[in-house]
Amino acid sequence: MMSRVYNFSAGPAALPEEVLKQAQEEMVDWHGCGMSVMEMSHRGKEFMSIAAQAEADLRELMAVPANYKVLFLQGGASSQFSMVPMNLLRGKSSADYINTGSWSKKAISEAKKYCNVNVVGETPAGQFTVPAADSLQLNADAAYLHYTPNETIQGIEFPYLPESGDVPLVGDFSSTILSRPVDVSKYGVIYAGAQKNIGPAGLTVVIVREDLIGETIAGTPAMFDYQIQSEGESMYNTPPTYGWYLAGLVFQWLKSKGGLAGMAEINQRKSAALYAAIDASDFYNNPVEVNCRSWMNVPFTLADAELDAKFLADAKEAGLVTLKGHRSVGGMRASIYNAMPEAGVQALIDFMADFEKRNG
Ligand SMILES: *Cc1c(COP(=O)(O)O)cnc(C)c1O
Repeated sequence: MMSRVYNFSAGPAALPEEVLKQAQEEMVDWHGCGMSVMEMSHRGKEFMSIAAQAEADLRELMAVPANYKVLFLQGGASSQFSMVPMNLLRGKSSADYINTGSWSKKAISEAKKYCNVNVVGETPAGQFTVPAADSLQLNADAAYLHYTPNETIQGIEFPYLPESGDVPLVGDFSSTILSRPVDVSKYGVIYAGAQKNIGPAGLTVVIVREDLIGETIAGTPAMFDYQIQSEGESMYNTPPTYGWYLAGLVFQWLKSKGGLAGMAEINQRKSAALYAAIDASDFYNNPVEVNCRSWMNVPFTLADAELDAKFLADAKEAGLVTLKGHRSVGGMRASIYNAMPEAGVQALIDFMADFEKRNG
């Protein structure tokens, strides 16, 4: 018997059940061609049609302007920590970074291998907020400004779009892409590992403005060159074909849900309900400043950390899994990406109230 749980994993994360079922139906014989997508040549007409449809759907969902390339790469968001400076420095010697948490820090430490990094705004240690827009010390000669719109581990998200003027803005959208509409034209580069809100791990989506590609630093591997990847239509080498296909199914699913405006409404409702339940209780606490609370990753602690193990065990019993917080933060974390249905969030809220009643 198939039995699905509500999976609150931060990543790899839950995928829409409808998508998994469609993939299952198409697994052995895709559209009558007698083979699985995994077994196809990436240059054959079947996979080319899958790839082109996925790109067209993503462009439509995100309203990607024509002067942007959409790349379907490998290496995860972590490879972009290197690819961004390698491609975007373009003769400059420094880049601006905003440091709001664990993923910003990793991006910064990688960029330091290639350029001077100016940390132009920072979340103070132990705080759960982002620096105020007017406090950012931006440099006009920076090659780009990099930030993390949603810090997956801390559960902090930017309530504003950093204004970088003529300096290209780069966003690590790994845990927030497709959660709501974004004005792509404000960005030089948007990138995201797929395993949170796009599809399975192994695929990385990069959206890059055309005028920013074509000038890499010496020694840049071909695989890390946006120009080469773009000219090869993300097929310089064998792309992650199955991940690309599944991402395409997710894009179609999103379109059927009213696109990103539709998802934004649902995500707003889901997160508001969960935060309201946490705030209404003295038993649970979320440390994040209210205007910076993530729609996607909701960390919370129990008043008595001794109860953490019981909470996790009882939750699992109730079909609610992967709620353990990141080891660097502790407590719990509920990741409620697009694929988490409202019923799943409600089930968590009901469980939390019941657990509090029994243990509070
Ligand atoms: C998960 C995550 C990463 C790392 O992604 P990989 O694909 O594992 O390299 C980077 N940035 C953010 C914001 C993330 O959530």
